[in-house]
Amino acid sequence: MRWEKLTTQEFAGIDRSTPVVLNVAAVEQHGPHLALDTDVTIGGHFLDRAEEKLADGVLILPAVKVCCSEHHMEFAGTLSVRHETFLAYVGDILESVVRHGFRNIVVFNSHGGNQAIGQVLLEQFGARHRDCRVAFLTWWRLAGPELETIRESGFSGVNHACEFETSLMLLAAPDDVRREKIGAMSYVGTFGWADADMIRASRGALFRTMHAMSGGTGVVGDPSLGTAGKGEEITQAVVDELVEVVGSLSAAP
Ligand SMILES: [Zn+2]
Repeated sequence: MRWEKLTTQEFAGIDRSTPVVLNVAAVEQHGPHLALDTDVTIGGHFLDRAEEKLADGVLILPAVKVCCSEHHMEFAGTLSVRHETFLAYVGDILESVVRHGFRNIVVFNSHGGNQAIGQVLLEQFGARHRDCRVAFLTWWRLAGPELETIRESGFSGVNHACEFETSLMLLAAPDDVRREKIGAMSYVGTFGWADADMIRASRGALFRTMHAMSGGTGVVGDPSLGTAGKGEEITQAVVDELVEVVGSLSAAP
């Protein structure tokens, strides 16, 4: 079910134990070959598939498309809001959800730059609403072990506008992929302890802009390994986990 497609009268009949899911995404540069709304498309694609399996067992909110992308601002077209804005705006949306009686909430994240503030949101909102069950999920972490078996690239091949994001876009929105602009592996390494991969996390965090990490290409990883078939494998791995998490919330007492 889509929150914004129901009428106010139809809301009266909805079971308040139904899990409510909100995608937080990004509108930011994704290299020369992917559209700026890649993270919106990927988040929406996973939720479309999850809804096919869960039917009325999930209530999906309109996505928050523009989030925290400060580290991409050197690239034209990127939109970003401050962490404080994200916390206030997404927090207010969730407050509205709670005021309508829902208690099971999943914030489903499709953008790396939302991970830290998403955790803060979870801790603040959870502490305010002890009677709620609120989860924060980031897709590549949710299905990390399965995704590790799907990747062909080595360390840092899966990062941004990379093997995985290119595969998912070739599957979900092929018209938003400029195939002739798909480049080779791109990653500028740093200290060993700070070298990062979407799935193989670093041991420590070092601030670097996407411009620095990508050597100016906007790509961190290996988009040349992207295929629609791999996009389907990734989709099934992520959606299986997402459906399990959402289903477990509605089944819990
Ligand atoms: Zn992305």
